[in-house]
Amino acid sequence: MSKIVFFCIPAHGHTNPTLGVVRELVRRGHQVKYYSYEPFRAVIEAAGADFVPCDAYDAQLGLTSKDGERIGKDLAFSTHVLVETTLALNDMVCRDMEAWQPDCIVADSMAAWGKAVALKLGIPFVSSTTTFAFNQESAKIMKQSFRELLAFFAAMPKINRDVRRLQATGYPVKSVLDLIQNDQNTHTIVYTSPEFQPCAESFSDKYAFVGPSVLPAREQVTKTHEKLVYVSMGTVVNDRLALYRNCIAALAGEDVQVILSVGEQVDIAALGPLPENVSVYPKVDQIAVLEQADAFLSHCGMNSASESLYFGVPLLCCPQTKEQGGVAARVTALGAGIMLENPSVSCIKAAVKRLLSDTKIKANAEEIARSFRCCTGPVAAADKIEQVIGT
Ligand code: UDP
Repeated sequence: MSKIVFFCIPAHGHTNPTLGVVRELVRRGHQVKYYSYEPFRAVIEAAGADFVPCDAYDAQLGLTSKDGERIGKDLAFSTHVLVETTLALNDMVCRDMEAWQPDCIVADSMAAWGKAVALKLGIPFVSSTTTFAFNQESAKIMKQSFRELLAFFAAMPKINRDVRRLQATGYPVKSVLDLIQNDQNTHTIVYTSPEFQPCAESFSDKYAFVGPSVLPAREQVTKTHEKLVYVSMGTVVNDRLALYRNCIAALAGEDVQVILSVGEQVDIAALGPLPENVSVYPKVDQIAVLEQADAFLSHCGMNSASESLYFGVPLLCCPQTKEQGGVAARVTALGAGIMLENPSVSCIKAAVKRLLSDTKIKANAEEIARSFRCCTGPVAAADKIEQVIGT
């Protein structure tokens, strides 16, 4: 029996793929402690881990849901959030780790405080990467723009000040890249197939492409029409009232069933009276919907795109962030979806029609589904963690 610690940020897209891994580790007799935030307590405990809340160690940054959009776009801001959170958690986490003596720390690639404490205390470390793995080769494909590189260098003095604060608290980090980037020597679990990961062959054997971790559906969705179109912009940047209105206008009265999941930030009443073929919810059992869906208008969060392709459902890609743009670029490059060029009523209508009738796109989506189904997901991830521990 080994003792394994997980760290994650408070986001469904980053937490969901780890739950099957926790369940598999617990099934194998390991003890798992999971550091996260109260809204995630129930799912983490249901997976069999001991939940440790981090809510009380707020970095006092006064973040709002809008700041979610800046993380990943603005490196100086992201570094500041990571450093403040690491320092706020420092005393509690270091005390716990020294007392509990875990055999391995598994941290989400954005929960840099997990990697930082592993480095500081010399504990074996595995990165849990819910997006594509990133290196110079894949960056070329994901098109890191020159402007972004310039912004990165302009922000360096501020970032370096934050890094020096970490060094002063005993963290052996030379640069912010030590925390936010995995090199070829970092054991890394990536929740996608080698076929879907750009340039998978350019990563070392420390990388395990275990496939998406798709949880079983909890409900059953009844189809009312031959074709079902699902619309969701995920759980973070999802207050897109105008887009939802256009989707409803584009598909009202068409011979398709439409399900929209609009999140908690949108007032459903503001969408007005709904056509008989359209239903709107703040949240759905996405897996249950995708099991029945024929097309998915999605922001292309990594989980949503993977879940969609797992069921061979073609994507109408409407990315909101750079990371989602990278996923959308991969989906369209493999021909398993198309980009929504413009969120207007006429464009949505035409794009959905094309997606529902184009057999080539459907075949490409099913090809990726086959690659996902060849992966063993949580089993391969648990194997990787055991291999790092040396059991
Ligand atoms: N999700 C869900 N119900 C919904 C909307 C989303 O269960 O109504 C789940 C979805 O299955 C996925 C996660 O929330 O696992 C969203 O993750 P993703 O990476 O796609 O996007 P994010 O929310 O992080 O932007």
